[in-house]
Amino acid sequence: MTLIELADVERWYGAGDEPVRALAGVSLSIERGEFVAITGASGSGKSTLLNILGGLDRPSRGRYRLGGTELATLDDTEISRVRNQDIGIVFQSFHLLPRLTVLENVLLPLRFAQSQIDLEARAKELLTRVGLSDRATHRPSELSGGQMQRAAIARALLMQPKLLLADEPTGNLDSKSAEQVLRLIGEVHAQGQTVVLVTHDPDIARSAPRHVRLKDGRVEEDGRR
Ligand code: ADP
Ligand code: MG
Repeated sequence: MTLIELADVERWYGAGDEPVRALAGVSLSIERGEFVAITGASGSGKSTLLNILGGLDRPSRGRYRLGGTELATLDDTEISRVRNQDIGIVFQSFHLLPRLTVLENVLLPLRFAQSQIDLEARAKELLTRVGLSDRATHRPSELSGGQMQRAAIARALLMQPKLLLADEPTGNLDSKSAEQVLRLIGEVHAQGQTVVLVTHDPDIARSAPRHVRLKDGRVEEDGRR
């Protein structure tokens, strides 16, 4: 079953004399449960693509369907709901809130959820799964980069999203922490979730079941192993 369908997606930045075309007609379809690595030189459009997939940004032209729903037809409240329920995102720079504890950060999606079900037990379970059960009451500033990224992954998984997106999640990490984070993301995929991982590590891309390479805002290569 198809989860993601992009048809001829373009994204232009800036109006006026010299608009930048970050995506130049991307068509891509991703099945449920796939693991897709996205690579490409800096400026090739990877983050723009991921932000569109995550509902953080909208195409200037073209269509994006997630689970059969055309996102452009949704209003802001509905998009927020989709982002909260169906999509988990992790970024290179973690995006943890410094004043909250690790546990509160993991529970953050609940603040934006429609029903306030009790997810604290699940949040604690996730912290155990990512190896941070003893850091729940610490602040992010008391964690290493690898620990912060693992907390961010736990937060991304709280609502059991269909789709996990990661934009260079190991870009700020030492190699050992990077390995742990990639192993975790691999486990998420092994449990059946769809994963789209932006990376510029050629080894990761080579070992991924599917590798999409962007160049100048276009899909230059799309291969399955
Ligand atoms: P990547 O993640 O592959 O490095 P990006 O998606 O960040 O690429 O950027 C693609 C292109 O769009 C680049 O030329 C970049 O400078 C441009 N771009 C990205 N974001 C913006 C923005 N907010 N405003 C203007 N140009 C942007
Ligand atoms: Mg980027």
